[in-house]
Amino acid sequence: MTGPVPSAARRDADSPRIISPYEHGIEPAAISSNAIEVVESLRQAGFSSELVGGCVRDLLLGRQPKDFDVATSARPDQVKSLFRRCDVFGRRFKIAEVWFRGEGIQVATYRKPPILDSRRRRSRNYSARGKILKDNRFGDIREDAFRRDLTINSLYLHPSDMRVVDYTGGFEDAQHRIVRCIGDPMERYREDPVRMLRAVRFATLPGFRVAVETEAAIAEQANLLTDVSNYRLTDEVTKMLFNGRALPTFELLYQHNLFRVLFPPYRWLHAGLNNDHGVVDWLRMLFRETDERIARDEHISVAFTLAAVHWPRFRNAMSKHAKKRRPASRRIAEGVLSQQNERTYLSGQLVYRITDIWQLQSVLESCRSGEQRVVEERNFRSAVRLLELRAKAGEIKSEVVEPWVMMRDRQQQNQRRRRRRFRRRSKRR
Ligand code: ATP
Ligand code: MG
Repeated sequence: MTGPVPSAARRDADSPRIISPYEHGIEPAAISSNAIEVVESLRQAGFSSELVGGCVRDLLLGRQPKDFDVATSARPDQVKSLFRRCDVFGRRFKIAEVWFRGEGIQVATYRKPPILDSRRRRSRNYSARGKILKDNRFGDIREDAFRRDLTINSLYLHPSDMRVVDYTGGFEDAQHRIVRCIGDPMERYREDPVRMLRAVRFATLPGFRVAVETEAAIAEQANLLTDVSNYRLTDEVTKMLFNGRALPTFELLYQHNLFRVLFPPYRWLHAGLNNDHGVVDWLRMLFRETDERIARDEHISVAFTLAAVHWPRFRNAMSKHAKKRRPASRRIAEGVLSQQNERTYLSGQLVYRITDIWQLQSVLESCRSGEQRVVEERNFRSAVRLLELRAKAGEIKSEVVEPWVMMRDRQQQNQRRRRRRFRRRSKRR
């Protein structure tokens, strides 16, 4: 992930670098017309406004953005008064969201970076460990550029003339495929430890690597993630596991000892110690399959993925337990999952489903494949997938799995047929 990294020459420049459409080559047709409308309306009302963040990064890399963010000098209430359908939300900072049919455009007012003075630790805006608690001081575009996390996420695009404005060296970094923190990475991770995960997530984009200082600071600050709310971590971990790059993300999380922080049942899993009892290979196999399914546009369930992530942990705990009956397995399952819940939020429903997938393993292993009652279990399909994975890992014989796989495929075909028939009928009506 590291290597010689060209310096971003303009990182501390006062005046921005302006990049012409000829230089950056962004395709105007790839920009959402709703986002353009929001920017133009704000400008006509006398405010400055641009596209910013992930969408400009993705457009530069030739990727279709999944959503479009707008930055502006207008305050959230001023944004709200300009658009018919607009909500203002957010606790730490307020963001306006303008609604169009099927698309929401988030509009954030320019904000200042945190105050960098020696008294900062005593400031009410910071926790004792240096985390930002309050971050809602409005600023200008330049200040807004420097309070963002990574240089590649800090570019502004004017849709009217397609110029890109760069205060932090993000254009050069995007060209060299470098993930680089804006400012001192130690400081920036201390302010908000989630930035470490964002750096890792973007480092898995094709061809990307992390700047040396940005990477080095992760080792020292990894434990700060224990200080982040489990809702925020859930959001970030979900993005990491289901964006089609789960395997490379896992490799980086593991290598930087972040995986053990994010998944407390594996807090003993230190990179390079070689005593993982096959867990790392298991996780690699799972995440490789997850990515392959996403590439084929197949459904991935969160319950299955988490059941598979924690299966080795659950199985181990069960093997130490003399009575392998349901009540004991439920208690053990809840023990493992409540540890996970310290970091990422698991709803009661999710805990129930994961436990069910685990408990179905012994049922599938011991009962005949013709048993209709098992096929009708709600988590039958996920349970068969886990069984398949276990067979692939050599944990059980493939003969145990094959009949269940056939049953599952038949069940899926029947369901598809029923759905098609239902659609045909409702069209005729
Ligand atoms: P994606 O939408 O693919 O997750 P994104 O970069 O658009 O990527 P958002 O969460 O939508 O991520 O954030 C929008 C922008 O806000 C980012 O591009 C970045 O400039 C800024 N940002 C997001 N999170 C942080 C953070 N933790 N610290 C500083 N700036 C951030
Ligand atoms: Mg975004």
